[in-house]
Amino acid sequence: MPYSRSIEKLIKAFSKLPTVGPRTAERFVFHLLRSGKKDVGELTMALKNLIDNIKSCELCWDFSDQSPCEICSDTRRDQTKICVVTHPQDMQVFEKTGEYKGLYHILRGVIKPGDEQNVKFLKIKELLERVKMPTVEEAILALNPDLPGETTMMFLEKKIKEQNPQTKITRLARGLPMGSDVRYADEITLGSALKNRM
Ligand SMILES: [Zn+2]
Repeated sequence: MPYSRSIEKLIKAFSKLPTVGPRTAERFVFHLLRSGKKDVGELTMALKNLIDNIKSCELCWDFSDQSPCEICSDTRRDQTKICVVTHPQDMQVFEKTGEYKGLYHILRGVIKPGDEQNVKFLKIKELLERVKMPTVEEAILALNPDLPGETTMMFLEKKIKEQNPQTKITRLARGLPMGSDVRYADEITLGSALKNRM
């Protein structure tokens, strides 16, 4: 027999999260039922707050409570460089290295070879608009060293060169293992890959 409707509904909602299967979702729900109203209230408030306040930065496409986000509106940052990353989490990893003081652009994904349809969901057009700005001198392509990442970086390089031949285009130095994910790279490796970019 299934659980009562309210329970089943929440299990289904949790199951949609990455790496959470139905069994883990079930554990979450019963944990919440046991832990009482305070914890559930906190979670409800946090979710509501996220939905109500988070927006996309109109410049870099990071998620932020404000647009332009804190980094984009910080005039002390080096406005001549834009570091192009796949996910918002990648940006956090680069920030932690302490090696980079420029701006970012979050593509929100990569071109998947064989599924060129998803190109239109990426923030490529927005990146090209930003590169046009006379202040921008360098685009650092810092996507993952794997097939979709390489494909996307080649595509971006071609587009930027066509549009702004004078823009310097660099990539992270080799050092990140092929197939690795920037999100899980350690700060020292990533910091030196950034510093020694080519
Ligand atoms: Zn921003």
